[in-house]
Amino acid sequence: MKSIPKVDLHVHLEGTITPEMVMRLAARNKIPVPPGLVKAGRFAWKGDGTATGELTAFLKSYDGATSVMKGAADYTDITYDFLKRSADEGCIYAEITISADHGAMVGLTYPEMVKAIAAGCKKAKNETGIEARLISSCVRHFGPEGALMVGKLTHDYPHPLVTAFGMAGDENAYTPADFKPAFDVSGLPFRTAHAGEAAGPDSIRAVSSTLKTRRFGHMVRAIESPALLKELKAIDAVPEVCVSSNLALKVFQDYASHPLRQFFDAGLKVTLGSDDPSFFNTSIGREYQIAQEHFGFSDAELRQVSKNAVEEAFVDDATRCQLLARLGETP
Ligand SMILES: [Zn+2]
Repeated sequence: MKSIPKVDLHVHLEGTITPEMVMRLAARNKIPVPPGLVKAGRFAWKGDGTATGELTAFLKSYDGATSVMKGAADYTDITYDFLKRSADEGCIYAEITISADHGAMVGLTYPEMVKAIAAGCKKAKNETGIEARLISSCVRHFGPEGALMVGKLTHDYPHPLVTAFGMAGDENAYTPADFKPAFDVSGLPFRTAHAGEAAGPDSIRAVSSTLKTRRFGHMVRAIESPALLKELKAIDAVPEVCVSSNLALKVFQDYASHPLRQFFDAGLKVTLGSDDPSFFNTSIGREYQIAQEHFGFSDAELRQVSKNAVEEAFVDDATRCQLLARLGETP
């Protein structure tokens, strides 16, 4: 498994913070660890078994973990730690979703946050060769005004590693059209948005038609509509599939009901992501392993998943050629 080059197209930076890192940062920043956050070395969030309950519990844990962060060095360390662990599993490229809103909570301006994250990317690349790009993302439930501010910051403080604009957060808040100004003002050529995870097929259609995305965070609930699946195939849609996340948050109850295999067999350009790996007890290596063990993906099919991801990665042509070469593919 380690020899298969892997690509992680969907991962939130703060979701990669490990329980060990929480302890380290809490000690360094002299901030107490929220009681009950970590048990037996794991984040101990537990909801009531419903999708809403699990999401609420997860978000509380996520906020608890990030509450120990204080400054730029923390962002650098978290980024490096995540990329190093990913590279150790054979990951050659990761696209990390970053949030100006979270940076502000830690007390950093957007350019300070990006600089700190980029330092972590550089250190990991120098040591392991792993390539990384950043998706500046707005948070849907913080509202269109807040999103517009993130779009403006992204535009006003460009960085070579920030190549895309994205949208995360509650899929049921507002409408995608409310966020079009934020995407447009960012000025970035690449875009992706969460859709079809907490909300159903209509959320995917709305995001696709108004924000003109071909890549979608999750998109898994497209399985509820055969007509939508056809439309998505027609635009060569790219689902960023995060199986462990979907199961942990009860979007699907088990592997058997998860549409990963159906998406792949339908010819959709399936890619994999670890989403919030530390909270879902996973990693990009584990997601590839799950695809093999529970969805019957052959080594060749997993290589195809990596190729899909590189072809749809938010990078320039030269980087894409280099990444394809690392997959053993001629561009
Ligand atoms: Zn996500």
